[in-house]
Amino acid sequence: MYEGVVQNLIDELGRLPGVGPKSAQRIAFHLLAADPADVSRLTEALREVKEKVRFCKVCGNVAEAEECRICRDARRDLHVICVVEEPKDVVAIEKTREFRGRYHVLGGAISPIEGVGPDDLRVRELMQRLADGEVTELILATDPNLEGEATATYLARLVKPMGLTVTRLASGLPVGGDLEYADEVTLGRAFEGRRLLDV
Ligand SMILES: [Zn+2]
Repeated sequence: MYEGVVQNLIDELGRLPGVGPKSAQRIAFHLLAADPADVSRLTEALREVKEKVRFCKVCGNVAEAEECRICRDARRDLHVICVVEEPKDVVAIEKTREFRGRYHVLGGAISPIEGVGPDDLRVRELMQRLADGEVTELILATDPNLEGEATATYLARLVKPMGLTVTRLASGLPVGGDLEYADEVTLGRAFEGRRLLDV
C-alpha cells in the first residue's frame, strides 16, 4: 500500500502483540513525523534489550546477568517456589509484596489447541530444582483460565510423589483472565488465601 520501507515498518509493527493493522499504520506515521532523537532512543532501547537481557538460568525470569535479581537475592526464602507462566507475572506478584520466595517461569501454559505440551515449557527445569528436597511449598500461580488450570493440575499431579505442599492462589481472581490484569490488592489477597491443591 505504501512505499517499500514504510510498508515494511507497518508490517513489522503489525506483527507485535495487540497491534492491529490500523494501529501499526498510526504508529508508523507517528514515527515518520517524530523527532529523530526520539526515534533514536527507541531503536537504541530495542537494540540494548536484545543485546543485554537474557533469561535467568535458574528460574527463567528476564535477567541482565546469568541469574536474575531475585535468584541472586540471599534474603529470599529458598523453601518456596511460585510457578508462573510469564516474566510479567513475576512483576505483578512482586508488586503485591506478599511473596518472599523464588519463582519459576514456565514460558507459557499447556494448551492442546495451540499444540503446547509440558515439553514445550520449563517443566523439566522445575523438576530439577525440586530434586534436592530443599523446596517444601510449590505455589501454582498460573493464569485463572482453562490453560492455566490445566497446567496447575498437571504440575500438581507430577510433583505429588515428592510430598510437597502444593497450593493454588485463592479464588477472587478474575476467571478467564491473565494474572497480570488482577489489581495488587486482589492478587495479594489471593496469595494470602492460597489453598491446598489436592489432586
Ligand atoms: Zn531467576
